Amino acid sequence: MDLVALEETLAAHGEPAYREAQVWAWAAGGAGSYEEMTNVPSSLRAALAREVPLSTLLLEHEAHARDGTVKALFRTGDGHPVEAVLIRYRDGRRSICVSSQSGCPLTCTFCATGAMRFGRNLTASEILDQALHFRRLEPVDNCVFMGMGEPMLNLDHVLGAARRLPDLGITHRRTTISTVGWLPGLRRFAREVGEPIRLALSLHAADPALRSRLMPVNDRYPLGEVLAECRRYVELRGRRVFVEYVMLAGVNDSPEHALQLALVLDSKAFKVNLIPYNPTGRFDGSSREAIAAFKGVLDRARIPATVRLTRGRDIAAACGQLAAAPGVAAVRRPSEPRAVSARPETRRRGRDARRSHT
Ligand code: SAH
Repeated sequence: MDLVALEETLAAHGEPAYREAQVWAWAAGGAGSYEEMTNVPSSLRAALAREVPLSTLLLEHEAHARDGTVKALFRTGDGHPVEAVLIRYRDGRRSICVSSQSGCPLTCTFCATGAMRFGRNLTASEILDQALHFRRLEPVDNCVFMGMGEPMLNLDHVLGAARRLPDLGITHRRTTISTVGWLPGLRRFAREVGEPIRLALSLHAADPALRSRLMPVNDRYPLGEVLAECRRYVELRGRRVFVEYVMLAGVNDSPEHALQLALVLDSKAFKVNLIPYNPTGRFDGSSREAIAAFKGVLDRARIPATVRLTRGRDIAAACGQLAAAPGVAAVRRPSEPRAVSARPETRRRGRDARRSHT
């Protein structure tokens, strides 16, 4: 729901200030229509239904995985694709993964979103509407900003959305913002944000040259400075930073790489999450054995580490696979060497059963 339009419309109808909170409370509780908002006068409900659509996003496609994961593809009012995922865990937890941008201007080489055309930043309402879509299906209790886009490039809108998530049942401690280490946003987030929202850093390689090869953003904001800012966050908030590390066979997954990682981290400030690679065309995923050996090195160095559970295998809803498919093939930059080889990959996604969600 466009919360700015809601406020303006209520003001134009001469409604008292508390109406906005009333309408929002219904929406945050999962109401599927204005008709359900029984403490709002019926003439006003009808006016709102005409003037402020319940969502700023149009649902274009929804895919359901066998493990219960749901991926939704939306369009913004001006036609940009947005994807979000609901992950249902066996222990009852319900986590949603939302996008902060349509596409992403960064070009991490292993990520499908990085290869599609960047659209624009999403508004706080567009981010919340992804969450509300799933909230209408069932209660949700966890949110990760790990969909399309780089949240620290759109921090105001990301925070605007995150601050309202508790109304949906998602506390700040169960909200995680993930970043490649975009320093201007990260600095603000570490130093200025009061809420206990969690931080995750996509690290992927401790060696500077390798990290730059995988994530060109590393040339601009070197890992050392980024880790220093993460430590600042830990000091100020008293919470560990999650480190995301995608396991690429023969690229960043050797015991030596694990040792390099252990040397730049410390056990009090960081917790590593090893991510099995979800195929997007260019790399191969590490074997189970390689992942176990990598984790063994971290264990011996006493760096807390877990291996991320892979979910949504059959619907391309996994980490790094959000590229607005099926229905809308990812648009690749003409200069991208992947453009040709990645096409069949994109087309296959809709019906293939080999993908995974994390
Ligand atoms: N731009 C932010 C938010 C996106 S989070 C960030 O990068 O942190 C998406 C997470 O999935 C990141 O940790 C990213 O590195 C990871 N990822 C990207 N492509 C992936 C792939 N193909 N397989 C597994 N994880 C991937």
